[in-house]
Amino acid sequence: MLDRDLAHILSSRRKCRCCGATFAQLLSLEYDRPDLCPPDLPKLDNSTFLMERDDVLTEDFCRVGEYCFIRAVLILPLGDSEHEMVLGVWCAVSPVHFDTYLDLFDEAETGQMEPVPGWLANAIPPGTELPLACQLHMQPGDQRPEMELTEKGHELKLLQETGLDLTDLLGLLHAYGHDIGSLLHDA
Ligand SMILES: [Zn+2]
Repeated sequence: MLDRDLAHILSSRRKCRCCGATFAQLLSLEYDRPDLCPPDLPKLDNSTFLMERDDVLTEDFCRVGEYCFIRAVLILPLGDSEHEMVLGVWCAVSPVHFDTYLDLFDEAETGQMEPVPGWLANAIPPGTELPLACQLHMQPGDQRPEMELTEKGHELKLLQETGLDLTDLLGLLHAYGHDIGSLLHDA
């Protein structure tokens, strides 16, 4: 059921009235920095990270005060369909794990690390409470780690486990401020 409905809206050319994105485009979402990171901190190249002593943000790393963050991928399956929502998120990790990850990153060897405990550093959707406990599963090559939510009983963790149904998905997009009506119906 979900599959058929989803296939239908994912192929739609209708655009969200608020942002001009199609439904399919809304299934990938990038957080450009951890929520704790000041919005005016410029994003630098990964290679400059080690040279910076103060707060710093790059494509894959961030340090704000005593906190260290790694860029990761959070996948929310859509029911039992082949589709999924893919979120580029940030994960707070301990300084020890952070240093190990940083050491292995250049040679694309982070895949040899055991799962790393951490905390989701972006509120999904915005306004919900943080942090949420999670675990990062390292991936081969230069792929970003995949985040598994582990916060007991949390709604987002349940959604990751069971997959979103259409109501969940529309609710989530609505919580981000998207205009669901304009995506589902012709004006
Ligand atoms: Zn929108």
